[in-house]
Amino acid sequence: MQEWQNACQIAAESAWGVTTDATSVQSMAYDAVRDGTSLKSQHAILATHRVADTLRSITEKHDRGWDAPKPRFTSPTVVYDERSMSFLDDGTVSLATTEGRVSATLRLPDKKDGYQQQYLDDEAWEHTQSTLHERDGAFFLHIGFKKPAEPSRQPEYGTVLGVDLGIDNIAVTSTAQFFSGSELEHRRRQFRRKRRRLKETGTRSALRTLIGIENKERRIAREILHRVSNGIVAEAERYCCDIIAFEALDGIRNRLPAGDVFHSWAFRRLIEYTTYKARSAGIRVTRVSPEYTSQRCAECGHVEEANRSSRDEFVCQSCNARSNADYNAAKNIGERAVRCVQQSTQRTSVSRYALKSGTVTPDEGFTPRDGGVRG
Ligand SMILES: [Zn+2]
Repeated sequence: MQEWQNACQIAAESAWGVTTDATSVQSMAYDAVRDGTSLKSQHAILATHRVADTLRSITEKHDRGWDAPKPRFTSPTVVYDERSMSFLDDGTVSLATTEGRVSATLRLPDKKDGYQQQYLDDEAWEHTQSTLHERDGAFFLHIGFKKPAEPSRQPEYGTVLGVDLGIDNIAVTSTAQFFSGSELEHRRRQFRRKRRRLKETGTRSALRTLIGIENKERRIAREILHRVSNGIVAEAERYCCDIIAFEALDGIRNRLPAGDVFHSWAFRRLIEYTTYKARSAGIRVTRVSPEYTSQRCAECGHVEEANRSSRDEFVCQSCNARSNADYNAAKNIGERAVRCVQQSTQRTSVSRYALKSGTVTPDEGFTPRDGGVRG
């Protein structure tokens, strides 16, 4: 546990302010952790990942304007995973330590509330990352369990959630979830008015206030973007999606009014937040080419500029299908991701994209959802 704390501290020192991505923290700090502690390779890796989690939650706090200093790892814990811990049939657990494997008897609660034994016995559950704690000389093992790959997540039936980003609606999903951009836009206008007044004043203290206002503006915007990214990931989970698809950022930027750096910044953040939140839910994020996503009819595939009759409304000149323009675009993004990811050599292959009422398999058609949605 002492070495684990040291390892976390070493990793935090090198990654602090640089990255919160688990793979990056690992490649950055792994050698230093191995050199500076007696941890074996698996625990060195786990320590860097634990640090990435901690740094990520600190970044979120900073984004919300809370004060959170560089972490100090002092609690007596060690993380274990499938490779550094195994349960044996004789009721013992074998744990990797700096001195080699140690075997300990598991003392589970008796039958009355002994649900733990059921999980250990049940073949449908596998143990996963777990944490060993020490308290008053006694050791407690918090065992994590997971159900291996549910059928709905089988790659060959993989499902995409298409997401269109914009100003009026900051995000619209192919499942018809609309995230309004009005709060963000309202805040921004408010701040812009204040800023203009301060610039006209031009005094030194006005300048200081101006910087404070800019920080506050970004902070509030980040908080809104965190909320939207949580909502997008929740929507993907609700509809059992394996991939969330956005347009490539260049494409989104081209649609913005010239000089709208704020929304470029906001979209970049939103995709970033969604990516790391999705990852911990086991969902991947991809980006597709933005070509014609706003002019193409998601029903029949007809592309024509006149399809987009107004800002909000999409009316297909060929099949007369009518829909909200952003929602139509979200479906196109979903379909494009299905076609792109199918062709690529990515590990996850997908065959359909999600709508509120079912799924669409390109070239085959619509399948209604059976049994409702999860959650
Ligand atoms: Zn059409």
